[in-house]
Amino acid sequence: MQIAVVTGGGRGIGAAITEKLASENFFVILIVNKSLDPARTIVDNIRSNGGQAEIIQCDVSNGHDIKQTMAAIQDQWGTPSILVNNAGVGGPYHAIDQVSEEEWDWIMNTNVKSMFLFSKYVLPQMKEQGYGRIINLSSIFGVWGGANSAVYSTSKHAILGLTKSIAAEWGPYGITCNAISPGYVKTEMGIQEEQVTDHLARVLERSPVKAIVGTKDIADMVNYLAGPSGSMINGASFVIDGGLSAHA
Ligand code: NDP
Repeated sequence: MQIAVVTGGGRGIGAAITEKLASENFFVILIVNKSLDPARTIVDNIRSNGGQAEIIQCDVSNGHDIKQTMAAIQDQWGTPSILVNNAGVGGPYHAIDQVSEEEWDWIMNTNVKSMFLFSKYVLPQMKEQGYGRIINLSSIFGVWGGANSAVYSTSKHAILGLTKSIAAEWGPYGITCNAISPGYVKTEMGIQEEQVTDHLARVLERSPVKAIVGTKDIADMVNYLAGPSGSMINGASFVIDGGLSAHA
């Protein structure tokens, strides 16, 4: 059974990814910080359907935690075939001159440094097994910028640079790395953004399909990239936004 590690697998988009990969017969390891209870419910459901899943608690903004987590996974279960770097935080929703250094560090550590570190530790293991898939969650804010979104947008742009560089560097060893850039998805993060902007209304007005992206839409793409059909897709970024960003 192939091992899939999903950061932030306990809720939101990560929960949908976990459930999808488990239903496709991956042994899923959920990396969870605060969402232990929802993660336990997900794992119970997976197990009662004959699947395999485990939870590891790890603060992905903490490099030491990540190193220990990846060592524990290797010791207990072996090398992951799939790493989904999904965990992330939104905000802060204010202008650059109001952004503190602490906020900058928190967002960049959680959203970008975590993806660098999980990749750093898993890549040599994947190279040894001659196979690996890394899928990073960027955002439509990795494509465009936005007022009061500078740190988040910067972090999501950086993820695309990391994705392409891993693709170029580790492709020769049977490893692919791709990014998914969702538009607005109605999770806790999406709702938080909605509360400080008129985001939902603007999305529905601008969206050619006049609908909101679902967590399942993202999970289905992750599953495609994680499977054998994705072998020639490397260094790519898939915008999933119903066409929101396709027009001016
Ligand atoms: P949620 O706010 O619903 O969930 C965030 C997830 O990240 C949770 O599972 C949370 O785990 C995890 N997380 C946050 N901080 C940490 C931390 N320090 N350590 C470990 N885990 C952490 O967000 P979404 O599900 O909506 O977002 C998932 C990804 O998709 C993010 O990278 C986000 O930027 C991206 N995205 C989301 C969009 C949206 O509109 N919702 C649009 C575009 C991109 P826990 O609860 O255990 O702390």
